[in-house]
Amino acid sequence: MNPPASISAPEETRSTTSKTYPVKSYMAHSTTSPLAPGTIQRREPRPQDVQIEILYCGVCHSDLHQTRDDWHDALPTVYPCVPGHEIVGRVVRVGDSVKKFKEGDLAAVGCMVDSDRTCENCRAGLEQYCQNMATFTYNSEDKVLGGVTYGGYSSSIVVDEAFVLKVSDKVDLAATAPLLCAGITTYSPMRHWKVGKGQKVGIVGLGGLGHMGVKIAHALGAHVVLFTTSPNKATDARRLGADEVVVSNNADDMLKHAGSFHFILDAVSAEHDLNQYLALLKRDGTMVMVGAPSKPLPVSVFNLILGRHSLAGSGIGGIQETQEMLDFCAQHGITADIEMINIQQINQAYERLLKGDVKYRFVIDVKSLG
Ligand code: NAP
Ligand code: ZN
Repeated sequence: MNPPASISAPEETRSTTSKTYPVKSYMAHSTTSPLAPGTIQRREPRPQDVQIEILYCGVCHSDLHQTRDDWHDALPTVYPCVPGHEIVGRVVRVGDSVKKFKEGDLAAVGCMVDSDRTCENCRAGLEQYCQNMATFTYNSEDKVLGGVTYGGYSSSIVVDEAFVLKVSDKVDLAATAPLLCAGITTYSPMRHWKVGKGQKVGIVGLGGLGHMGVKIAHALGAHVVLFTTSPNKATDARRLGADEVVVSNNADDMLKHAGSFHFILDAVSAEHDLNQYLALLKRDGTMVMVGAPSKPLPVSVFNLILGRHSLAGSGIGGIQETQEMLDFCAQHGITADIEMINIQQINQAYERLLKGDVKYRFVIDVKSLG
């Protein structure tokens, strides 16, 4: 397969720079310290770079996991940590060889800012699975400046244009920011496993990812069932596109759906029982984990053997697919349901996320950074 056009920047233009400028941000200094203001350095744009003034940044549960070092064994946190990977903003400067963007354009950045672009996975448009590890938007090795990358809880970012997405000027920008992670993370597995008309699809957990999952599965034509631990979310779930809502701690209601799902997407952030969902799959049905609880979750193999069920995982999506998702959502009038916050409210927002109390994505109005 040819590399997608979006990642084919010639090697010789990938020069380095050590010139930087200061940028206001919010950062965590340890697992337990609340996020607080601080200044980071961004590189001056290289020829292939786009400098973006950040307008909005979504708040993903991954930001919370990462700042508290929940994933210590898999992705240890380097402090200070500036999270944020649902970024929408305006281009304020471009390098000489930038072709896709000009000053004044809208632009978006998701969970990755680079990858090796040459391995089998990158060439297949799956940079998120880069065999040499994609450079994630935060807490990843910064291959240009050294140290780690810093995310979107900041007023400005500089990214190679190959990893910058186009945003339509007809959409609500703040409500579009969450598509850059919650949107693509739910869209990508549903496309990969070919979710569509005639299928019964379960979405587990109505948070940031889950509510995008409900909207996208509905737009793809599936019969959508939302599983929730929060009975008070049922009305919203129907409004967002769920055909049925099941409160997952009601064993009788769960049993009514035994053996009936083609596909289940699990978007839960904390420990929970996977077996009760695996038992709901049809023969050859697949359950995909996008939620990333920090501890291992036990699985009874009989819930896989009986019915030839698959349990899989999926991580965000490639750059070309992210653009496809943005275009799909623009076409279908899909954005996130958001609660806008000022950056000073971020620590309270995290506490609410821990309680499953968000409707359905916090988005930071970045001008509140001052
Ligand atoms: P979120 O907005 O906090 O939503 C999580 C939802 O999970 C809650 O709203 C709640 O829904 C449910 N939940 C929470 N605690 C639960 C528990 N103890 N038992 C059962 N259900 C519970 O989080 P998010 O931003 O959507 O992220 C969800 C997960 O996906 C996180 O672990 C995040 O790190 C991960 N993630 C993965 C990827 C990837 O590439 N795979 C990308 C982004 C995020 P109800 O109230 O409806 O039960
Ligand atoms: Zn995320």
